[in-house]
Amino acid sequence: MNPEEFRQAAHELVDWIADYRLSVGDLPVRAQVQPGEVYRALATAPPEVGEPLANLIADLDQVIVPGITQMQSPRNFAWFPANASLASVLGDFTSSGLGALGITWQSAPALTEVEQVVTEWLRQLTGLSDHWKGAIHDTASTAGLVAMLAARERVTYFSEMRGGLQAEPAPLVVYTTAAAHSSVPKAVLLAGYGNDNLRYVAHDAVTFAMNPDALRTQMQADVDAGRRPAAVVATIGSTGITACDPVRAIVDVAAEFGAWVHVDAAMAGSAMLLPEYRHLFDGIDGADSICWNPHKWMGTILDCSLLYVSDVVHLTRVMATNPSYLQSSVDGEVVQFKDWGIPLGRRFRALKLWFHLRLDGAEAIRERLRRDLANAQWLAERVEAEDEWQLVAPVRLQTVCVRHVPAVIASDPDALDAHQQKWAEAITASGKVMVTPAVHDGRWMVRVSIGSETTELADVEFLWSVMRSTAFDLTV
Ligand code: PLP
Repeated sequence: MNPEEFRQAAHELVDWIADYRLSVGDLPVRAQVQPGEVYRALATAPPEVGEPLANLIADLDQVIVPGITQMQSPRNFAWFPANASLASVLGDFTSSGLGALGITWQSAPALTEVEQVVTEWLRQLTGLSDHWKGAIHDTASTAGLVAMLAARERVTYFSEMRGGLQAEPAPLVVYTTAAAHSSVPKAVLLAGYGNDNLRYVAHDAVTFAMNPDALRTQMQADVDAGRRPAAVVATIGSTGITACDPVRAIVDVAAEFGAWVHVDAAMAGSAMLLPEYRHLFDGIDGADSICWNPHKWMGTILDCSLLYVSDVVHLTRVMATNPSYLQSSVDGEVVQFKDWGIPLGRRFRALKLWFHLRLDGAEAIRERLRRDLANAQWLAERVEAEDEWQLVAPVRLQTVCVRHVPAVIASDPDALDAHQQKWAEAITASGKVMVTPAVHDGRWMVRVSIGSETTELADVEFLWSVMRSTAFDLTV
């Protein structure tokens, strides 16, 4: 494809994307395909000769669109907001068009320096103090792994340069809570700490926030047993019920034992854009690392996860490589993002944040987040006002966790569990809306995650009426 052919095809495709976004609210929210259906609908042999774009567009319409869950639908309340603002789509598209290679500063100075600018913009917008330095990673899972590696190397004084963990005299221990995302234990395991050295600290019975006294007791018990506390992973906005650990108290306890504090705010980090929500992050400036995903609620298209560290010199000592073919005369004067994480080659991801912030502006983003928070409160009030509906957890942000408790089965916990899954599946299978059931504290509930870029109060009202009528019909 030459640039003129590209111009024509791209115009057509951009029109197609705009039409898709205009009509996404009319499509069934959850993908309606059966396993293997998409695979069988596509050619099994690779094309030897190029096809016209029209063939691909026909497949997009007939196979691909029905084959995805419509995360951009205003009636999507599943999992967590995975917004892909069109301003950021333009930045992503531009990144692909430029085809820049981020391996060193010299391979694309602008790739590095735009990333420095946008991570600094977001530091300012989120009210983090100016000792934090950030970089863009693909996901919070990767960012969490990087944090666990940095923590491991701090507590062992760079064991990687000696015999690694295999030569350490005492096991290193990591602390989190049962509410932590599954990527936390995964990072702990991948970083070599071992499952035996991962502690789930006791939490508050209602808020599910980590209990700092229990953390101290657990850390002391490990020290007494000859183990070394290495890191605490606190969560702000847990995946299930948006539980928020008390970061300030955790930082104080961790400091007593010299442990790293990583804060996982993958979804809730967007709330730091709102000064009135920063109390949830109280004490954050004392942590060692914090990660949050603009690719969730804030709406910069996947993949865009930010990891800020308070000691970038330490991080780069852990991560740096210096092969001769990457060396240049400006090394020492410039930032080399290859030394801030795992991959060498990086995309020009900063462009999607740059486009998003410059085209939409921070105020429009803040307004949207406030709208979602108000919509969540609206739903929470309706749930609380109805006899047979319960709020399962305090509504701190935009996730509303509910249970329908019909009087006839109210005393049968297993029947209640089955009922939650049934009504959630019924409304999701209808395609009208989508919600996700999950287990909280050993029992099934349904999470309503409000925060699609296009979700207005009318969509939440519609959801509530569908929830009530469906759950009621299943009871009688
Ligand atoms: N942490 C929390 C609190 C999350 O809710 C999630 C995703 O739902 C993650 C981490 C993982 O995010 P990612 O997909 O960016 O790895």
